[in-house]
Amino acid sequence: MQELKIEHLVKRYPGRDQVVAVNHVNVDVQAGEMLVLLGPSGCGKTTLLRCVAGLEDAQEGRIVLEGQPVFDSATGLNQPTHLRDIGMVFQNYSLWPHMTVQRNVEYPLRARGSPDRAKRAREVLEVVQCGHLADRYPAMLSGGQQQRIALARALAPRPKVMLLDEPLSNLDALLRVELRTHLRAIHRELGFTGIYVTHDQLEAFNLGTRVAVMNAGRIEQLDSASTVYERPATDYVARFLGIRNVLELRSEGGGWSSGAGRLEGDLGLFERHKGSLQLFLRPQALRLHVPGAPIAQVGHLSLAGGHIVESLYSGSEVDTVLRVGDVTLYASNPVGSGQFKPGDPVTVSFESRSALLYVDGKLAPQ
Ligand code: ATP
Repeated sequence: MQELKIEHLVKRYPGRDQVVAVNHVNVDVQAGEMLVLLGPSGCGKTTLLRCVAGLEDAQEGRIVLEGQPVFDSATGLNQPTHLRDIGMVFQNYSLWPHMTVQRNVEYPLRARGSPDRAKRAREVLEVVQCGHLADRYPAMLSGGQQQRIALARALAPRPKVMLLDEPLSNLDALLRVELRTHLRAIHRELGFTGIYVTHDQLEAFNLGTRVAVMNAGRIEQLDSASTVYERPATDYVARFLGIRNVLELRSEGGGWSSGAGRLEGDLGLFERHKGSLQLFLRPQALRLHVPGAPIAQVGHLSLAGGHIVESLYSGSEVDTVLRVGDVTLYASNPVGSGQFKPGDPVTVSFESRSALLYVDGKLAPQ
């Protein structure tokens, strides 16, 4: 079942250099799913969320909540926020300072005249593990506790859709991990439908039923977390995920070369491809060899003539920076998998199935 449908949504901010913050976005959010909007600052995540909330007016498109349109540019329909049956949690907890925790959580229920509001408030406070804080005021709570209360307040009226805008970003790193885990458990327990905005990929992968990666107002990829991670659909997504090893390839003398020299080995990966090719490699995919040492040929590729720039011990792994031709590469290998020191010559190899090949910016089919 589709809980929320966003169709051809466009939001422009007027001004000298007009910004198209949301650019023809189409997305269906299924009942019970947590859709994460992931992307760098300024890509339009918050604006999209605010359009769904009715806090921003889009210029084009439609938003449908459980079959009922709440926004439709064609008919001029634009339901105000308080009629949209959504719960919202922002990064600043925005609790009422003069009300106790109990009264804060009751607040949206009071506005709706719910007779059992005290009972429901206690119920959701238990869900967020804050039942014991009911009589405190917000100033007497930690940031993490305040955010749990804000979550309880948003959940209390059982909204059709929960909108969460970077709810963990004001918390310190340890608390963020704890609350992320708790949020995951609450989502599993209550099964609410949610849209969650973040620029943190780990948060997105941990919490998202599906992840939508945004780029300049558009959804660049919408997939499960594992597909986004393993098969980034475009070079933009690969770069956003932080895959730092990039070879810009050109066809040369029957083979393929880049700034790191000629690729040797099994070139089957490149068969049938023309145009601008880019090879993205995760640091864990690169193996380092003493020049001249035997390297597997079938299904493998290698680059010779490199040297080690730096080798950094990081506990379970050794992170190595190396230079091949005029390209800097980053390798990450288990401790004990080879001893190299700065200045040592090196050959790099990788399995071709671990490489991500982009043709004109799009991931080539496997
Ligand atoms: P962040 O992670 O930094 O919050 P975001 O992905 O949520 O970024 P938005 O806040 O949605 O991005 O902004 C999208 C674009 O719209 C940006 O270019 C931003 O500068 C612009 N923008 C946002 N709000 C306004 C506004 N009120 N007036 C004009 N431009 C705006």
